[in-house]
Amino acid sequence: MSRHDLLIDGQLQPAATYDDVFDPASGDAVGQAARASQEQVRQAVAAAARALPAWSGAPEARRLSLAAAATRVREHVAALAELVTREQGRPLQATRQEIAGVAATLDHYAALEVPAETTLQDDDERRVRIVRRPLGVVAAITPWNVPLILLVLKLAPALHAGNTVVAKPSEHTPLSTLLLAGLLRDLFPAGVLNVVAGDGAVGEYLARQPAVRHITFTGSVATGKRLYAGAADDLKRLTLELGGNDAALVLEDADVEAIAEPLFWGAFWNSGQVCFAIKRLYVHASLFEPLLAALVARAERTHLGHGLDPRSELGPLSNRQQLERVEALVDDARRHGARIHSGGRRLDGPGHFYPPTLVSGIGAGVALVDEEQFGPVLPVIPFDDVEDAIAQANASPYGLGASVWTRDTARGEAIAARLESGLAWVNQHLHIQPGAPKGGHKWSGLGYEGGQRGYDAFSELQVLNIARR
Ligand code: ADP
Repeated sequence: MSRHDLLIDGQLQPAATYDDVFDPASGDAVGQAARASQEQVRQAVAAAARALPAWSGAPEARRLSLAAAATRVREHVAALAELVTREQGRPLQATRQEIAGVAATLDHYAALEVPAETTLQDDDERRVRIVRRPLGVVAAITPWNVPLILLVLKLAPALHAGNTVVAKPSEHTPLSTLLLAGLLRDLFPAGVLNVVAGDGAVGEYLARQPAVRHITFTGSVATGKRLYAGAADDLKRLTLELGGNDAALVLEDADVEAIAEPLFWGAFWNSGQVCFAIKRLYVHASLFEPLLAALVARAERTHLGHGLDPRSELGPLSNRQQLERVEALVDDARRHGARIHSGGRRLDGPGHFYPPTLVSGIGAGVALVDEEQFGPVLPVIPFDDVEDAIAQANASPYGLGASVWTRDTARGEAIAARLESGLAWVNQHLHIQPGAPKGGHKWSGLGYEGGQRGYDAFSELQVLNIARR
């Protein structure tokens, strides 16, 4: 079984303790991840701080390193994708897409030219420059659902902007991040990129280090709030990409046959373990029965299996806690009178398999509708009046994504613009536009990732004002 070490100050470092990581499809151990001690976290942060002056002064070298990282990732797509599949569960064709996205993101930032400064005034009286400066050491704390792309969406702009990074992957999926760190090790000067692994306590310890000036986090709302509170003492900057409870609204003129498949994948890609998956489906009453039937038929013919089996369309849930959460929410919905049309219970045998589950007969007030279930379960809720559906979609503390499905795209756009979410789609869900900022409204996040706004979060500005007389 493979052991994966930490990356600290340009060296792979063993740890005193290793944690087994299990394949969620079989229960077999996949490998062991070094668990960073507090001393190792401090060493990683100190190395990142030491590496900062040279790295922040070398913009061209930064872009060359990012370009070399993209090439290195492309050379190792197969190994990276297989390891994500083994530790996270998602089928191989989807993890290969993830790794392709990692390489594309690195390429994007390698090619990105951002002016280091602008001149506001330059005359006999004064010269005023607005200069972009890196923040310093960035802590990147990531979740288990799409581990490598969510990491690289943080790493690449943070490094491009001249910061150095200490990353902390989820304890459920640390191996792929540690493998990536080992592959990229020689492409960055020592200390520029460090990876420490371990549980939430390691993440918390990292986030509290005085030299950490920015925390970029993707994960649960509860942990995000905790990090926000913990950062206050030291006024650390924060970017939070948190959960969602996305609504999709199907209007009366939608084409049921055409939309069933994209709606299905909008809800069930990665077994629903996506922060901006469809988690509530509001359907005009006239289409409720046919659309539900089409989704049930699609769910029933879905091939569930090990992610390394090419026939598998969906893998298992990524960890036992997630499986138990989904089970508890579906049981609770049953107690509230829900009808379960497909799935509804875990599969026997090893592995955390839970089939795509369609539920009706419940609405607001039931946890499966009100909370983020983050699993392969979709409550389908009829409406008569679209105003009522808009109100229900917006009656949520979350505001990550939302979509409208209709043949009338102009009307769809007008309704989408009224939804309280950072991402609003018409006739699609999940699509992430390269170059666009992605961020949640309300409890779904703080700040943006990607685009100019996302990039700007990794710099601060200095106004240099030179009096000339
Ligand atoms: P989940 O419950 O889905 O695992 P979390 O938000 O707990 O989501 O986890 C996302 C990431 O945050 C993981 O890397 C996890 O180890 C880390 N984490 C958990 N608790 C804390 C914390 N208190 N401070 C910093 N990081 C944490």
